[in-house]
Amino acid sequence: MNKSELQQHDREHLLHPFTDFCDLGKQGTRVITSAEGAYITDIDGHKMLDGMSGLWCCNLGYSRKEISDAIYKQLNTLPFYNSFFQCTTIPSIELADALAEVTPAHMNNVFFTGSGSEANDTNLRLIRRYWDLNERPEKRIVISRKNGYHGSTIAGASLGGMSGMHKQFQALDYIEHIQQPYWFGEGGDMSPEEFGVYAARCLDEKIQELGPEKVAAFIAEPIQGAGGVIIPPETYWPEVKKVLDQYEDILLVMDEVIFGFGRTGEWFGADYYGMQPDLMTFAKAVTNGYFPLGGTMISDRVADVVKARGGEFTHGYTYSAHPAACMAGLATINILRNEKIIENVRDNTAPYLAKRWAELAEHPIVGEARSLGLVGALELVKDKGSRARFDDKCSAGGICRDMSIRNGLVMRATGDTMIIAPPLIITNAQVDELVEKARRALDDTAKALA
Ligand SMILES: *Cc1c(COP(=O)(O)O)cnc(C)c1O
Repeated sequence: MNKSELQQHDREHLLHPFTDFCDLGKQGTRVITSAEGAYITDIDGHKMLDGMSGLWCCNLGYSRKEISDAIYKQLNTLPFYNSFFQCTTIPSIELADALAEVTPAHMNNVFFTGSGSEANDTNLRLIRRYWDLNERPEKRIVISRKNGYHGSTIAGASLGGMSGMHKQFQALDYIEHIQQPYWFGEGGDMSPEEFGVYAARCLDEKIQELGPEKVAAFIAEPIQGAGGVIIPPETYWPEVKKVLDQYEDILLVMDEVIFGFGRTGEWFGADYYGMQPDLMTFAKAVTNGYFPLGGTMISDRVADVVKARGGEFTHGYTYSAHPAACMAGLATINILRNEKIIENVRDNTAPYLAKRWAELAEHPIVGEARSLGLVGALELVKDKGSRARFDDKCSAGGICRDMSIRNGLVMRATGDTMIIAPPLIITNAQVDELVEKARRALDDTAKALA
């Protein structure tokens, strides 16, 4: 099939995630045909620097034969076996071991799933099981944050705080959403430090309102990814820690689906912020995007209860601990360790990106340029002083994304916030290329909006 035939068949038979199907029909899809290192190429031969690592998952880029070989080899040895009914496989044991090593010291058990959404479903099941076994069945409510993202199953989308998603289904009724730590958008006249404390105190307020005896857990991403790379003010996590320390019996779930496996320059966001979560969701980068795999890491505190007290945990997925997925995970972790990829992000690439990215704040349509580790965001504004946007339809973001792609850089738009999460293997020269292409996209966007 040629390009237009492919687009026609795509339109006729394929429903895409998070897509306006009418829009898709009008524009035609971009057909991505190959990828190498940090670049992807479409069917027209247009090569783009992938500033989003696929969908936050191809952290080692697209050319890691060690991972595809490991998958291939496993598929030819034992392509599938389940871990139900007292069975296990060697790759699943080895990956569980490796995860216990690279995650925080107090987390030594894993429950495998097929995706991040499923892992958050598992978290809800584990939370309930934990409090039931502790004879605290009244602890049922999970507190989450507005504009958080925790996946797209009913549980994942209920935990998430995306209002556009909530409008299209009936969310679970035992999840409560609080203020997000989005200073640029919602901080008003407060300083970032003040606002960070304020947003964390909202957790305390909600716990008081609901009654601490009813609150089972608090779930949050270390940094909101899909919500627009919302890096909380430095005061936020220390204050959340204070709030939770006050109660002791509210579980902390950190959803590390984006920030796990090195994106902050530490193995996990929990390491970066010095937090001790009870459960930690992972997916995406665990296999470098080469094979679907997710899971949740379980703290000793929770494992001691759910493992020791007996009785069947009536939960699991056919593809929990899929052997080929586990081999992909092992190969990925081996590369991260052997090549000191995460240390290089921390000591080299992240500081370099921070310096270069910050220069974009000078651009006339940029209200804020923020970054941490290997994520960054640009807030597009019409007026820097008042942080006023161009319009309420977020057209600036859409234009800037299209201009960026035309200039050979994949940036994503979340409303009028442009976001990047380049592969961890990006070189400083490629960071220069990324910033120059982003600057050109901003120039073109300013022209188009003028
Ligand atoms: C992507 C994402 C998920 C959902 O993962 P899927 O594999 O798409 O189900 C959950 N949480 C966060 C923070 C994510 O970014």
